[in-house]
Amino acid sequence: MGHPDTGREVAEETLRRAYAAIAPDDDPATSKGETMMIRHTGGCHCGRVRFEVTAPADLQVVECNCSMCSKFGFLHLIVPKERFRLVSGDDVLTNYQFNTGTARHLFCSVCGVKSFYVPRSHPDGFSVNARCVDEATVRSLTVVEQVDGRNWERHYPEGRGKFSQ
Ligand SMILES: [Zn+2]
Repeated sequence: MGHPDTGREVAEETLRRAYAAIAPDDDPATSKGETMMIRHTGGCHCGRVRFEVTAPADLQVVECNCSMCSKFGFLHLIVPKERFRLVSGDDVLTNYQFNTGTARHLFCSVCGVKSFYVPRSHPDGFSVNARCVDEATVRSLTVVEQVDGRNWERHYPEGRGKFSQ
């Protein structure tokens, strides 16, 4: 299908447009000369759940060994709630809660994929599954931290985590 070498160009173009979509003063982080933020899109497998998340092109993610995340292979891209927007799928999202009930594990009731959720460590933010972010705008993906979720209270003695980017 098409030219074999156009995939890369399409990705570059998508990335360029993603950068252009955000004006410099749209996000205070960019005006301070910090990491450039772009708008990524993503969603579940069936496509009913779609979201936008503002993050760098080089995604820094966290892995967790808790009973839930280790089964999923979830790669956490944790952002303040202002940087996440649910575009569609509110009607199909199911909320699963356990243990302390703080985390809201939101999964698509049609295809079963948990593309984002409200984590116990950041109840005022969202954890997006980096595996569910559309590839076009992702330049790189690096696991920067291992969270010892099996010993949650020891890992988060203050009862919650910080936003790192
Ligand atoms: Zn789905």
